[in-house]
Amino acid sequence: SRAWHLVARPHGWPRAEDFALRETPLTAPAEGRILVRNQHYSVDPYMRGRMNDVKSYVPPFQLDQPMDGGAVGEVIASNDPAFAVGDTVLHGLGWRDYADVPAKHAKKVDASLAPLSAYLGVLGMPGLTAYAGLLEVASFKEGDAVFVSGAAGAVGSQVGQIARIKGASRVIGSAGTDDKVKLLTEEYGFDAAFNYKKGPVAEQLKEAAPDGIDVYFDNVGGDHLEAAISRLNLHGRITICGMISGYNDTQPIPGPRNIVQVLGKRLRMQGMIVTDHQALQPQFVQDVASWIASGELKYRETFVDGNENGLDAFLGVLRGDNTGKMVVNPTR
Ligand code: NDP
Repeated sequence: SRAWHLVARPHGWPRAEDFALRETPLTAPAEGRILVRNQHYSVDPYMRGRMNDVKSYVPPFQLDQPMDGGAVGEVIASNDPAFAVGDTVLHGLGWRDYADVPAKHAKKVDASLAPLSAYLGVLGMPGLTAYAGLLEVASFKEGDAVFVSGAAGAVGSQVGQIARIKGASRVIGSAGTDDKVKLLTEEYGFDAAFNYKKGPVAEQLKEAAPDGIDVYFDNVGGDHLEAAISRLNLHGRITICGMISGYNDTQPIPGPRNIVQVLGKRLRMQGMIVTDHQALQPQFVQDVASWIASGELKYRETFVDGNENGLDAFLGVLRGDNTGKMVVNPTR
């Protein structure tokens, strides 16, 4: 089995030398464990934070240890009565081709209900982030105008579509290529979208949202957050979900220069961590599965084959190579 190890803590953009793909022999699972052939594993922006040695809501990756994260695959050997060979499971030992998983940390998933990769994306952690971040954290209500950044990504594409389905008056998204922008308006039903690399965010947002916005779902931070504060209407809400534009910064960047507007407009800005919203999981799966079935909600995935390409897939997420959820197929 081959697993990606963190061997040095990146300073700024991660470099290939900070990682190593190391081999360990496959052994039969001990009591209470199962051996899983990972069909897909997830590479996510939050993993960049885990490469730093800082206390956060998830512990940092340990040096010279395999990295971990969401994965789905098939049980190929079981030493636990709860699992049989052939079961498909979701678990937390990604970044490797084969995983020796404690049975209590694995959850059976139904491969006949949805493609397995969906449990890492549209029906998984990023999906719940979008659902909870919009409906609960931002207190979305019918008639709100919603702006989401990172809108062609896993979380963002779902935020915009859920807002549309739930009766937003206007849905606006930003993304980093013209193709992504086209996807937002032509396939996902956004009312307006723009390429943030093509001009100042503040000007492009103003044009896209002439009557202002009521909710800003922030995946990006930086100038996007500043522009959104300027466009928010009275009693507007901001969900701080992520700030990917700063994940490789070595110095903290200055905050929004217009922060004083929070006061006059009585804005509410709230951070979120998806794991606090597990109570919404059943409702989330029921709603999203039915919207996918009816064709109201669409999603894309970007697949990278080969465990040896897992690191590049992760870096690709930070570069914007992905449309929708980035997924590695380590055993293909
Ligand atoms: P995405 O699928 O959205 O992939 C990340 C995208 O970010 C890239 O495709 C790229 O798209 C965009 N991006 C990269 N650099 C920049 C930049 N400098 N400025 C603007 N956009 C940039 O990832 P996820 O959907 O998994 O995650 C989206 C956000 O949500 C992240 O910030 C992540 O940390 C956060 N998150 C937070 C959770 C929570 O519990 N709080 C849970 C899950 C995710 P483009 O081509 O458009 O630049």
